[in-house]
Amino acid sequence: MEITFHGAARTVTGSQHLVQANGSKFLLDCGLFQGSRQETYYRNQYFVYDPRTVDTLLLSHAHTDHAGNIPNLVKKGFSGPIKTTPASRDLANYMLLDSARIQENDAEYVNKKNAKRGDPPIEPLYDSKDAEEALKLFANVPYNTPFEVVPGVTAEYFDAGHILGSAITLLDIDDAKAGRKIRLAFSGDIGRNNTPILRDPTIVSDVDYLIMESTYGDRTHKSRDEAQDQLRRVVEEAVERGGKIIIPSFAVGRAQELVFSLNFMMESGALPRFPVYVDSPLAVNVSRVFRAYGELYDQAAQDFAEDIQHDVFNFPELTYVGSADESKTLNDKKGPMVIISASGMCETGRILHHLRNNIENPRNTILFVSWQAPDTLGRRLVEKAPRVKIFGESFDVKANVQVINGYSAHADQTGLVDWALSLKGRLKKVFLVHGEPAPAEALAAKLREGGIPEVYYPNLHETASL
Ligand SMILES: [Zn+2]
Ligand SMILES: [Zn+2]
Repeated sequence: MEITFHGAARTVTGSQHLVQANGSKFLLDCGLFQGSRQETYYRNQYFVYDPRTVDTLLLSHAHTDHAGNIPNLVKKGFSGPIKTTPASRDLANYMLLDSARIQENDAEYVNKKNAKRGDPPIEPLYDSKDAEEALKLFANVPYNTPFEVVPGVTAEYFDAGHILGSAITLLDIDDAKAGRKIRLAFSGDIGRNNTPILRDPTIVSDVDYLIMESTYGDRTHKSRDEAQDQLRRVVEEAVERGGKIIIPSFAVGRAQELVFSLNFMMESGALPRFPVYVDSPLAVNVSRVFRAYGELYDQAAQDFAEDIQHDVFNFPELTYVGSADESKTLNDKKGPMVIISASGMCETGRILHHLRNNIENPRNTILFVSWQAPDTLGRRLVEKAPRVKIFGESFDVKANVQVINGYSAHADQTGLVDWALSLKGRLKKVFLVHGEPAPAEALAAKLREGGIPEVYYPNLHETASL
């Protein structure tokens, strides 16, 4: 049997691995590669295999870098089932349609430029119709329930503790030709212990081969408690000043965690009560999915729900903002208040309007809770630029800019090493994916030191025979 690493190989995004066994083919993830516009378009557009020949797709979780190219795979002829957990399916429902809209807008933007230069128009990578077609192929498989992938291959999903519905995939492959049975695990993205709402990543066992993420293979995260405490302090100070606290946040996971934490701190008296607005259509939809899956929460979140006798993503001071008009009414409201809005790196979306309206008032706070990519407005603000451009207009940054670093949804080096070393013994080889070279090499060294015989960091499109 063979595995070919068609994405997230020597980089983080674009998770996509093709497994061939017993004359069948199945894919692990089909994510979007994210980079500069031109490279992204080319890399995502073409598959180096024929999607029509793939029998099944197993999806680890709904993040764009794992699920975002599925509509294109379907557009190019894939018609098999897409098996994922029910929560991932519900999240993918909103995320793929949102992603299709972004693809359509991107193509429109490029085509305006192309028209000026007399160049031919491009087609979006996929559109809403393609996303809808893809969603019809989704089939739910709950955690801890073995199912057939293709003849001779069964799989089972275990909670990865990374985002709601995220899974570690355990595959039992009956390699008839070689007369042996192989157990292959695919980590997907591995979460952190003690993340609010989510359960800790599952420790699986008896694995022969492992495909494993390495995003933070060279880093140690600040503790979650420290992040919580920082959040409390920043919000408390801003509330005292009577200002607005604008939090650019990813719509999936982070926004819900913030709502949960603010609710918890207000309930316990750690923070005074003040209005909180979630102003991102995607975050509002995703929160709905979070509310529907209370049985997936960790014990602490279930206990909290029990204590307050209602849903943890709803409290009297919280408003989920719907229309753009409703969003605009926030401009005229006086602080203190928290506005959680997307995009997380301030590149698009309603966050830009909130920044434009609030950035020049020293009473306000802009609070970053995630890593900011180079060349984004978010990065410029985090680096304390004195003036920034928003919608082509220049603004003085007078608001107080704060950064909390402890919020990653990924395990750090210790988390990854502990998780992988629990498989020591039967484990023959680890393939590291979903990481830049420096973290992957650092993690590889730690795993070898820990006694794992072989650790390999494959190239893009490289095939490994097992
Ligand atoms: Zn992820
Ligand atoms: Zn990922």
